[in-house]
Amino acid sequence: MRQIFLLILLFIVGQWLVKALRRHDAQASQRTGGADAKGQSGPNGGARGAASAQAQPQLAEPMIRCAECGVHAPKSDSVVVGGQPFCSAAHAQRHGARPTGRDAR
Ligand SMILES: [Zn+2]
Repeated sequence: MRQIFLLILLFIVGQWLVKALRRHDAQASQRTGGADAKGQSGPNGGARGAASAQAQPQLAEPMIRCAECGVHAPKSDSVVVGGQPFCSAAHAQRHGARPTGRDAR
């Protein structure tokens, strides 16, 4: 009788572990985002990338284009200075330090 109880306990713990691992995996792939394909060079990388892309429900994050380098970045990671969006604070500073690009041209 005790062995059955142990088996059930093991089963529940196993299920919980699988669930926790899956959640961790999903979070990791969400965090890496676009760099996912570059980082995973394994043979399974492509299939996993497609699956995670389908599983991601929220892709509604608006993207902005950096006024300095032209890179597209998620709005939450962007820095807006003087009404112009930048991918990072460094680019905002670099853009501001330069004399206005329109006059220089
Ligand atoms: Zn930039």
